[in-house]
Amino acid sequence: MSVLTFPATTTTRRVADDERARILADPGFGTHFTDFMAHARWTAEDGWGPGELIPYGPLQLSPAAAVLHYGQEVFEGMKAFRHADGSVWTFRPEQNARRMQRSAHRMALPELPEDVFLASVQELVAADEPWVPAADGEQSLYLRPFMFASEAGLGVRSGAVVDYYVIASPSGAYFPRGVQPLVVWVSEEHSRAGAGGTGAAKTGGNYASSLLAKQEAAARGADEVMFLDSQTRSRIDELSGMNVFAITRDGRILTPELSGSILEGVTRDSILQLARDRGLEASEQILLIDDVLEQIRSGEITELFAAGTAAVINPIGELVTTQGRWTIGDGGSGEATLALREELTGIQYGRLEDRYGWMQRLV
Ligand SMILES: *Cc1c(COP(=O)(O)O)cnc(C)c1O
Repeated sequence: MSVLTFPATTTTRRVADDERARILADPGFGTHFTDFMAHARWTAEDGWGPGELIPYGPLQLSPAAAVLHYGQEVFEGMKAFRHADGSVWTFRPEQNARRMQRSAHRMALPELPEDVFLASVQELVAADEPWVPAADGEQSLYLRPFMFASEAGLGVRSGAVVDYYVIASPSGAYFPRGVQPLVVWVSEEHSRAGAGGTGAAKTGGNYASSLLAKQEAAARGADEVMFLDSQTRSRIDELSGMNVFAITRDGRILTPELSGSILEGVTRDSILQLARDRGLEASEQILLIDDVLEQIRSGEITELFAAGTAAVINPIGELVTTQGRWTIGDGGSGEATLALREELTGIQYGRLEDRYGWMQRLV
């Protein structure tokens, strides 16, 4: 059975207007949640059941639920943006719908039909519309669709009961310091993904395996970790949750090719398109860490940045390795990096023409 709508099945107690206004004045990232959440359940017997919007709140889960033991889950991350005329839009949602299907396939979870994914997001945002921050500034309603095996049982098999939810969180800057150049630790010891593994799927396990390296980064005063390929430890993969780009003095923009252990970012794809239209020569290729460090040293690479939905585009000012510290350019925010960021956020917030048809209206 296919579900096309997510009706609000229960009356929910909405957060009071003044309390919501207080939260929206300084939302932080991923710490406050809205009134509703979307839900649908899949069973091996009957497929997808009807969708519903229910009050945001704790889940009831068997302690033997498969996800808690074997990590069978996938997720997505997207945003709803308010435009100056009050309307609310999201960015390339069909890309997230399809990627969640690819992630689900890799994790032996059922694929949610694209129209159901889109309906869940649309109807949640419509119900939670007062939670979409105002158009000024750089705030948005962050959306987190996710799906996990909830069947109880300790046998290792793919779950016959799977729950899909979407939760929403009013959000400001992803990094507490805002758009400031990041210091990034290059992890030579730990990998987030291996050949044939789950690196191309958006699944919690990849994040779990990145956390220790992130702690090591923090101990060295770094904000983030850069992971290398697990086999040779020579090729740049990506950060724990963001893709990586380099810009060269002669106007090229480089990013690691999709090797199977890299997440195919929607932001990454959009940046390649924008960069090409700006006359930058864009190349998806193997990026060897030693070459990149050398080219930072020689001034051949002038800018480095990280890209993902949450932080959009964030300059990287410095790389830290066991060998030393490499300052990119003057360590500040690069000109081309900021121009790309301005253009992408301009399209998302409706300040610039949506010339690729990337935006979809929600409310
Ligand atoms: C989500 C994610 C990204 C960024 O993808 P976007 O679609 O641009 O948000 C990059 N790397 C990893 C590991 C991710 O999980």
